[in-house]
Amino acid sequence: MTPFIAPGATLGVMGGGQLGRMFVHAAQQMGYFTVVLDADPASPAGLVAHHHIKADYLDEQGLAQLMQRSAAITTEFENVPAEALMTLGAHRPVAPGSEAVAVCQDRAAEKRHFARCDVACAPHAVIENAAQLDAVPDHLLPGILKTTRLGYDGKGQVCVSTRAELDAAWESLGGVSTVLEKRLPLAFEVSVIVARSASGQVVHFPLQQNLHRDGILAVTQVPAPDLTPAVQQRAIDAAERVAESLGYVGVLCVEFFVLHDGSLVANEMAPRPHNSGHYTVDACDLSQFDLQIRTMTGAPLVAPRLHSPAVMLNLLGDLWFAPDAGSQNDGVREPDWAGVLALPGVHLHLYGKAMPRRARKMGHLTVTAASAVEARRVALEAAAILGLPAF
Ligand code: ADP
Ligand code: MG
Repeated sequence: MTPFIAPGATLGVMGGGQLGRMFVHAAQQMGYFTVVLDADPASPAGLVAHHHIKADYLDEQGLAQLMQRSAAITTEFENVPAEALMTLGAHRPVAPGSEAVAVCQDRAAEKRHFARCDVACAPHAVIENAAQLDAVPDHLLPGILKTTRLGYDGKGQVCVSTRAELDAAWESLGGVSTVLEKRLPLAFEVSVIVARSASGQVVHFPLQQNLHRDGILAVTQVPAPDLTPAVQQRAIDAAERVAESLGYVGVLCVEFFVLHDGSLVANEMAPRPHNSGHYTVDACDLSQFDLQIRTMTGAPLVAPRLHSPAVMLNLLGDLWFAPDAGSQNDGVREPDWAGVLALPGVHLHLYGKAMPRRARKMGHLTVTAASAVEARRVALEAAAILGLPAF
């Protein structure tokens, strides 16, 4: 069991992306020192942490430095090699642990874990070789072929309707280990974020409803407008079972599909705070990053409370380009921040990434308001100002 690590200690994080940056902000607010390990000298979290170790995830010296400086270590990126976390875990409290992260890194293992927890997921087949490719049952088509490892933001995925397309897609992905999932008719998508302490205490955030565009999260709304209390409770129970049976310590997000008949299908999980939980920073009395800190330091967990309905809009690099411009940086322009900041309840978060690229997550904007109707109204206005589609 983790003894309580009090403010004044240094907390380490593997990965220097925006999730690490928001973790660092929350940790610093509580009086912790922070150290980030990320090879990128301009990483969003490295820019704001007290220490930045510029090394690869498997660099022995880098890991040794991280251990030496940190009282406890977490991860902000699920593809940090599990063996790096195992190395760290032999010497320092690491939350989440390497075994849990390893399950989340592998779509096939993740689905097996869902099944063990009696949580339904999409009909699927694992395809690792030509024989398994040939043996795929027809009822999985049309489907989505996903690489088993290293996919994110819709990368490493190909939609396939016929066997010929499936064969070509498997080849185009390099013949690596993949999972073919049946394409399901989604009514909408939600996610649940839970936090579990080393002593087994579990709390959760209210569910958020998520709209994806091109496989990338675009809009999150809380409370989830289309969710019934019964489905919400089933999702929370499922996510808690998933966390408990992993012996999970930390913040875990489980993404679900809701089908037209109200049935709930687990999509995937992330062993860390999640893009769909960014609203918690501005709309809840404790954020997902606060709970990440509490779980890794052995602090007591208390249930977070939503104090304002919220809508979050992701700000991708596309906003920096005129609609008809290519992806070259000569087309770069600054979005109309002053315009959106003139709206009530707008919280602008930019991650400090110097180079906008299409589909790159540059920031997000959360609108909080006294009512869900008002939050949505203002968010639609912000979207119009920025040139984002309505939702
Ligand atoms: P990533 O790891 O890139 O987030 P996901 O597996 O979560 O990939 O897929 C991204 C999005 O693609 C989902 O949020 C959903 O909108 C859509 N999607 C994925 N799998 C399916 C499926 N089996 N049926 C229908 N839509 C899907
Ligand atoms: Mg996803």
